[in-house]
Amino acid sequence: MQSPPQPATMPRKEGALRILLAEDELAAARMLSQGLREQSYAVDVAGDGEEAEFKAAVTPYDLIILDLMLPRKSGIKVCQEIRAAGSNTPVLMLTARDGVDDRITGLDAGADDYLIKPFEYRELLARVRALLRRGPTPHVETIEVGDLRIEVRARKVSRAGKRINLTAKEYALLEYLARRAGELVNREEISEHVWDEAYDPCSNLIEVYIRRLRRKVDTGFDPPLLRTRRGEGYMLCADGVAED
Ligand code: CA
Repeated sequence: MQSPPQPATMPRKEGALRILLAEDELAAARMLSQGLREQSYAVDVAGDGEEAEFKAAVTPYDLIILDLMLPRKSGIKVCQEIRAAGSNTPVLMLTARDGVDDRITGLDAGADDYLIKPFEYRELLARVRALLRRGPTPHVETIEVGDLRIEVRARKVSRAGKRINLTAKEYALLEYLARRAGELVNREEISEHVWDEAYDPCSNLIEVYIRRLRRKVDTGFDPPLLRTRRGEGYMLCADGVAED
């Protein structure tokens, strides 16, 4: 008998990234785990939902890749229970192409991202990298940078109490910069986190969105929060930092 799962509380190991892959289709599990290991991740595989939940409870994974359709316990249930046990480990869910309801339920259950099967392996890697870089996800959250306030769940943004309406992409970019407030964020990081693999690195899309964000978030407010360091990147920052 396995003892009931408890939330894993061990500190995360520096430099070693460990992934739990919950996938019951053997060929897919083998292919994915091999590929992830080649990228130097440590990978444990769980073949059903109960095993996944147990492993997640005893090992502080950096990321969990969770197939939605698992024997013994569904990916949704596993995700809910992991979250209920207090884990903030990022969860990437694998879902079927036609499962729109599943994807919504999955995100509501606490998954951070999803991939639709069949997916390209390099897309999985990109999502994994993005989630790992983002780290554990605080699930109830408001981010504040100066007088800018972002309610993450509701995706509401306001500055000095005034509501700011953003498109989905503008919001994603702002939230990403706000999560890393005070840090210089380069274009590559932005394209990896906010755009998908279809992003063309030669395009000026990031600049376009930065300009739009600046217009909405900074115009008419003081001080400016969104800074550009030419050739280096961008920073969202509440205190005065010299611009180039
Ligand atoms: Ca499955």
